[in-house]
Amino acid sequence: MSIRTLRVLCTPRCNLNCSYCCREGYAFQKTVCTPKNLADFCAAVDSRVGLERVKFTGGEPLLCENLFEMVEAVGDLRKFKLSVVTNGTHPAKIAELISVTREIQVAVSLPAWTRAEYNRATGTKGFLPQVKASLKYLTSKEIAVRLNVVVRKESSVQGLRHLVEKSRIDEWDFRAIEMTRNSLNRKAVSAKDIPSLYSIQKRFNSLGYYQTRDSASTTLFTNHNRDHSFELTKAFCRDGCTRCPQDKSCIWLAADGTVRTCAWGNKPDYRIDTWTMSELDSVTHALENDLRLP
Ligand code: SF4
Repeated sequence: MSIRTLRVLCTPRCNLNCSYCCREGYAFQKTVCTPKNLADFCAAVDSRVGLERVKFTGGEPLLCENLFEMVEAVGDLRKFKLSVVTNGTHPAKIAELISVTREIQVAVSLPAWTRAEYNRATGTKGFLPQVKASLKYLTSKEIAVRLNVVVRKESSVQGLRHLVEKSRIDEWDFRAIEMTRNSLNRKAVSAKDIPSLYSIQKRFNSLGYYQTRDSASTTLFTNHNRDHSFELTKAFCRDGCTRCPQDKSCIWLAADGTVRTCAWGNKPDYRIDTWTMSELDSVTHALENDLRLP
């Protein structure tokens, strides 16, 4: 088994203020990881345990000063699928990113399609037109797009229907994500505000989608009328390691040099300070043991 995704937390900064933001469970101040450091780390992880995808996330990765250089450095290795998770509010930067590489999936986090609902969910005003401009641009350039839709208690069936239909028409992948509560957003998100997977499934059933595959963490729905499917993902477990629902398919590298194997924080972290080959080797060796990869 190899690691499916290295999630690179480029920056903790974001221009939105979503009430449910979990920032991948880790906040940091200092950035030490250079584009070359990142490429070296990816190569080291790949040679030790195998790696399929590098995903740039945050915060809002497009606010990271050296995002384009990092994408370029990893892309130059020509080994990994690339993706970025963005809130889509910076269409000009998205165009710049696409000028660096077209071989990148762009996942746009979008909680709602109407202005009032979007403003409420993101705690901001006036950004939705930019997000729509980004989506239009990406679609016109035939870039692989995925909508990441965090399903909240307030998410309406009508609102979800609109997002699902837009995804079908514009051929975007659609991923409904269960809200996550971790040490960073625990004060803002109470457990009772998190809809259960069951209630989310019921909402999609009422949209005409039915469940075709179920595991502890992922359900795939298919619209039988239109041959369109999408995923419902339990983003990160909140049960801790003993009940981890799936394989250890992700690891996290923050730009301050911290490496984690779980966004929930129960697992030991590793730090990379010198980025020498011997340090990378000892961290990837520790990861190999920690992940219990054969
Ligand atoms: S767009 Fe993403 S990173 Fe920014 S506040 Fe919302 S959830 Fe957090």
